Amino acid sequence: MEDIISLKNIDYSYYGKIPALKNINLSVKKGEMVAIIGLNGSGKSTLLNIMNALIFPDSGEVSFKGNPVTEKSLSDKSFGIQLRQSMGYIFQNPEIQLFCPTVFDELLFAPLQLNLTVEDAEERAEQTLSFLGIEYLKERPVLMLSGGEKKKVAIASVLTMNPDILLIDEPLSSLDPKTQTFFIDLLLELNRAGKTIVFTTHHLDLIDHLQPRVVVLSEDHTIQKTGTASEILSDEEFLISVNLIHEHVHKHGNEVHRHYHSHYVFHKHGDNS
Ligand code: ADP
Ligand code: MG
Repeated sequence: MEDIISLKNIDYSYYGKIPALKNINLSVKKGEMVAIIGLNGSGKSTLLNIMNALIFPDSGEVSFKGNPVTEKSLSDKSFGIQLRQSMGYIFQNPEIQLFCPTVFDELLFAPLQLNLTVEDAEERAEQTLSFLGIEYLKERPVLMLSGGEKKKVAIASVLTMNPDILLIDEPLSSLDPKTQTFFIDLLLELNRAGKTIVFTTHHLDLIDHLQPRVVVLSEDHTIQKTGTASEILSDEEFLISVNLIHEHVHKHGNEVHRHYHSHYVFHKHGDNS
């Protein structure tokens, strides 16, 4: 399969002094699902921002479908438009993303930018509302949405563009458990439909659910390991070494227990105990 996004020897630091990524080499293939995991501050969001060409690396090469991505190459209108239309970015904080007065305006925005007719844009917006089960929010002012509703509208506003690639920063943040389950199923469905998905998380249970290829960023901002979800999740020693799980002391009555702890509840498939 062709590499859709490829990063070679990427270094990035903020203001030239706060390191965020060091010597990152990573390729994403068409149709793949890839998770970037690591602790807070390891560089996950920065990596997504680079993939989406929101920021450009200090050194190294980014390519999109084999073409170099630079400020200069993006100033070529057709390449810039192709890249922007192919990648949908769902931010961790939906507030950043929503800027229209009502939900329906928000969902019309991308299709109209893509030069669809008003009727086609409206049809696409309606379909997306129904796909996400949020028809009831159609006329709602964006300012009058709950956190979870804002996230759903932000997701919807990206899906109306029908991008081939979805870049999603911390998919589960600000969602209640029911909406989390909904979003996890949605991601599986979109990936099955052929979309390439790259997401960040520090929740190991999300990795267990989605079974993506996993890229682990370390605290020193390098890629420490890549592997399948089961390779990464079964390597307890490694997860401890990168602080993704840690020893935890519990008190039950007068007894003190020590065990490894993470956001991820270890369980074996097929084991109901
Ligand atoms: P993660 O998403 O894994 O939590 P980030 O990519 O946000 O990590 O951050 C990587 C490093 O870059 C951290 O040390 C963080 O403090 C720093 N950083 C992130 N965003 C900014 C910013 N806008 N300005 C300065 N430093 C930043
Ligand atoms: Mg982040």
